Amino acid sequence: MKPILIVGGGPAGLSAAHAVAQMGRRVILADKAERLGGAPIVSGYARLVPSGEWAKDAIGGMVKRVEGNALVEIRRGTTVERFAGEPGAFVARLSSGAEIEVSAAVLCTGFTHFDSVNKPEWGFGTYPDVVTTTQVEQMFSSGKGVYCPSDGRRPERVAILLCVGSRDRQIGREWCSKICCTVSANLAMEIREELPQCTVYIYYMDIRTFGLYEGAYYWESQEKHKVKYIKARIAEVTSDGKKLIVKGEDTLVKRPITIPFDMVVHAIGMDPNTDNPALAAAFGVTLEKYGHIAKSSTYTSMSGTSRPGVFVAGAATGPETIDDSIAQGQAAALAALAAASAGGIKEAAE
Ligand SMILES: Cc1cc2nc3c(=O)[nH]c(=O)nc-3n(C[C@H](O)[C@H](O)[C@H](O)COP(=O)(O)OP(=O)(O)OC[C@H]3O[C@@H](n4cnc5c(N)ncnc54)[C@H](O)[C@@H]3O)c2cc1C
Ligand code: SF4
Repeated sequence: MKPILIVGGGPAGLSAAHAVAQMGRRVILADKAERLGGAPIVSGYARLVPSGEWAKDAIGGMVKRVEGNALVEIRRGTTVERFAGEPGAFVARLSSGAEIEVSAAVLCTGFTHFDSVNKPEWGFGTYPDVVTTTQVEQMFSSGKGVYCPSDGRRPERVAILLCVGSRDRQIGREWCSKICCTVSANLAMEIREELPQCTVYIYYMDIRTFGLYEGAYYWESQEKHKVKYIKARIAEVTSDGKKLIVKGEDTLVKRPITIPFDMVVHAIGMDPNTDNPALAAAFGVTLEKYGHIAKSSTYTSMSGTSRPGVFVAGAATGPETIDDSIAQGQAAALAALAAASAGGIKEAAE
């Protein structure tokens, strides 16, 4: 049987590649980046929720497992320009100029972090101490801990603003990014642990620490770590020259609030991968209304796309957590193997 092509080597793609190889089948894993691991590795996440494991160990371990598998051929710095044929007999043209024959494909191409400059009134790009959750993750994973980028001092007051680039119709992003409430509560607890004198506020519209995360993150952050939650509509983030000033309305008491901080953190959302139009054209798959790769069915073929033999997993389909991306990678591997086998049976009969 021809190998299965997996595009994208983040948590979903690493999981799909491992699952296919576990079944004794060959895999070609193509990633446009030079480094495998997807967002948790390339963007330098720190401790993951809900496991508490460091991203470099947890996802780094998944990378090593795939790199060490003789059935997995890795093509770094590679995209797919054209994908022709049918299940069991596709030909993919890679950006390296190579043409490869594969039996099925799984798109695990993930998401693009929301760029906070698209929300200029909240100070990112204007004030150096307005940062993103990704930057705070990097501060922890580098071992430096949390500091104000303007002068390196440890913050005494931190505000985390939720839903930056999510649930915001004004900037065309209606979706909830699913994991940022939980990630923010986790970062707030880590800041409090590292800097016990630091006051941490979380500004929210609603809290969506879904499922079991409610107890472990929402309540734990308030009861054990004394993180303060304010239900608010934020108007703007400015500066008085010394402190950052967060202005808005407390929507519980319906009063304006103006509070000074040393650091403001944008809990950025998950945008559709900016490559999706090009991926849709190359693979002949449909995108859903926001620009994620559309699934063909919710129940009967959850890994399917609009094109038979091309499957999808992880945040390529919309905001996803790492554990769900990994599960979807396994499911897509099984679906791809079934399509490849059906194609192989047809090929043998002809
Ligand atoms: C700040 C932040 C913190 C987070 N922390 C957590 C957490 O603690 N726990 C949790 O469960 N979730 C967390 N998430 C969500 C997590 O990042 C995603 O669930 C996860 O990265 C999805 O994995 P994926 O493999 O689907 O996509 P990605 O991680 O985005 O990987 C996609 C891969 O595809 C490659 N690729 C993209 N386009 C192409 C292309 N055209 N051709 C070839 N390759 C391509 C990329 O280079 C990348 O390697 C966090 C998200 C954010 C924004
Ligand atoms: S998970 Fe929370 S912060 Fe993220 S978009 Fe949804 S409600 Fe907003």
